[in-house]
Amino acid sequence: MPILSIVRWLSIPLLVLAATAGPVYWAFPEGLSAARSLGIVLGWAGCGLLLASLLLMLRETWLSRWLGGLERMYQWHHRVGMVAYVLLLAHPLALAADAWPDSPLLAWQTLSPFSLGWAVRLGWLSLLLLMLGLAATFATRLSYRLWRWLHVSLGIGVLLGLWHLLQLGIEEPVLPILALASLFLGWRLIREDSGLAARPYLVQMAAPVADGTVEISLKPLAEPIAAAAGQFVLVAFFAGPTFRGCGEFHPFTVSSMGADRTIRVGVKALGDCTRRIQAIEPGVLARVHGAFGTFLADRPAAAQLWLAGGIGITPFLALLRAGPVSQPTTLVYLYRAEGDAAFLPELRELAERDPQLSLQALATGNEPPNPDSFLPAPGQLGDSECYLCGPPGMVATLRQALRTRGITPRHIHFENFGFR
Ligand SMILES: Cc1cc2nc3c(=O)[nH]c(=O)nc-3n(C[C@H](O)[C@H](O)[C@H](O)COP(=O)(O)OP(=O)(O)OC[C@H]3O[C@@H](n4cnc5c(N)ncnc54)[C@H](O)[C@@H]3O)c2cc1C
Repeated sequence: MPILSIVRWLSIPLLVLAATAGPVYWAFPEGLSAARSLGIVLGWAGCGLLLASLLLMLRETWLSRWLGGLERMYQWHHRVGMVAYVLLLAHPLALAADAWPDSPLLAWQTLSPFSLGWAVRLGWLSLLLLMLGLAATFATRLSYRLWRWLHVSLGIGVLLGLWHLLQLGIEEPVLPILALASLFLGWRLIREDSGLAARPYLVQMAAPVADGTVEISLKPLAEPIAAAAGQFVLVAFFAGPTFRGCGEFHPFTVSSMGADRTIRVGVKALGDCTRRIQAIEPGVLARVHGAFGTFLADRPAAAQLWLAGGIGITPFLALLRAGPVSQPTTLVYLYRAEGDAAFLPELRELAERDPQLSLQALATGNEPPNPDSFLPAPGQLGDSECYLCGPPGMVATLRQALRTRGITPRHIHFENFGFR
């Protein structure tokens, strides 16, 4: 494994360790009972983990490059946030356990939000907001917009938790943690969610490429983003002569990069915003942030098996539009029906022109595709490198099917088209 990959692989665990050990070391209690010391250590460790979780929600290209990509950052963001919550829940319990042997009343007062004034009330309010935000992360049926707003309650919970410490008269290391937490939250809201980090683009062309899918060409109005085939960008579409975009940033894969730095994205109607985008027209303003992702970067020289589901074809299309493949490559393109198969005529032409590329285009109907009907038999995969892109459910099924065919995880690369 090249050094850089090891550094990237270790980056987040080391960052989380430092963010946890720092406050614990700084405020390590001395001369207190074991239960009280544990309560205090749990509190600081929880704070440190929350800080790390906030850093891992930032969407900056340089940061995602160092930390192994946005999807990996989100996975750790969730994990670290959950552990932080458990530690912060245990924190008051350990403090109450310390008081219990001498005075059950004091133990209750330590816990009760009604007795020891605002400091404890703020602590409970913070825990309640963290609980609400975390509960929402599991409620995948919630609309994405409501899910996002409930997620914001987590950020407020963090700030209230730190205010709880200030109310207890604890300043060191609360103030630096509070400053960093406010910086990360402000950075995400101002620079990323409100689009300051994004570049202005103009919709130059929009063409339907299948039922419910449109390909949009975007011309840079200022310095263009740098993107490589297979990468994705966060795009927000605003108003045009008759079009009103939803103005939210959504991830879309760059399906081609023009010599004149125009980029194209293919958008399939999968929800409110993408349905609205089907009616987009030239002249609509957009903001583009990116590019992100390393899905198809640094592909080994071995034979390639590419598995694309629905609009998950876009990263592979970008690579094929950029030129002929350099290794024997089999592209399996799965779609519900011929009418949904975006870019199929173009892919057929590309496969006809490229002797190293073989295309299997399969209409699977509404049933989940059966891997045995299109995956090569175990012995035939040899040391192929496998690349999967599409809806998370399809990716999970195919990863499993490849594993049972003896392909080890190191040779299975995937991009989920859903961050949640
Ligand atoms: C790395 C990546 C690359 C993608 N590339 C493409 C592409 O090339 N073409 C394409 O059509 N689709 C692509 N998608 C999927 C696309 O982002 C979603 O379909 C779109 O965001 C749905 O928004 P909506 O408002 O229409 O639907 P909603 O009903 O709001 O959301 C449907 C689902 O889309 C996801 N989603 C919604 N909003 C966001 C958001 N702001 N950020 C992240 N996920 C969100 C959620 O998982 C949600 O459950 C990609 C997704 C990812 C993660």
